[in-house]
This record gives sequence, structure tokens and C-alpha cells, in this order.
Amino acid sequence: MFICQQCNIQVPPHIPLNLIPLQTRNKKYPARANVNREVHSAPANHKNDPGGSGTEIVQEIRVCPDCYAKLKTKLSK
Ligand SMILES: [Zn+2]
Repeated sequence: MFICQQCNIQVPPHIPLNLIPLQTRNKKYPARANVNREVHSAPANHKNDPGGSGTEIVQEIRVCPDCYAKLKTKLSK
């Protein structure tokens, strides 16, 4: 049970919640040395994480399935 943040209607139980990201930002991840352990090796070998870049969510809203369908078509255009 939750309140849709788009239409402000209380959604009954057992209805799935959908999250819509409203704002994202670019994020750079630094390289890290010896952090990834190889699972099937003895003794354990560690590899470096090269780092990289991506996006992370700044703000998202909880919406009902009806609003999700409307916003999904609106955001995909
Ligand atoms: Zn709604």
C-alpha cells in the first residue's frame, strides 16, 4: 500500500510499486587496486577494478501502474 506521487491516490495492497527516475547525474568511479577476488582460484587472486563512468539517480517518484504506463510513453518520446 502506498500513495502515488503523481496522482496522489492511495493504492490498495498487492499492487506493485513502480519507480520513475526524474533526475539523473553523471558519475565517475575511480580505479581501485586488488578488489575483485577470483572465486575459483586457490590461493585467491585479486584483480584491479578499472573504474569508469555512468549515471546515478538523484530523484525518483513512486507511481501506480496507471501513471507508470502514462509516464513511460511520455518519457520514451
Ligand atoms: Zn498514480
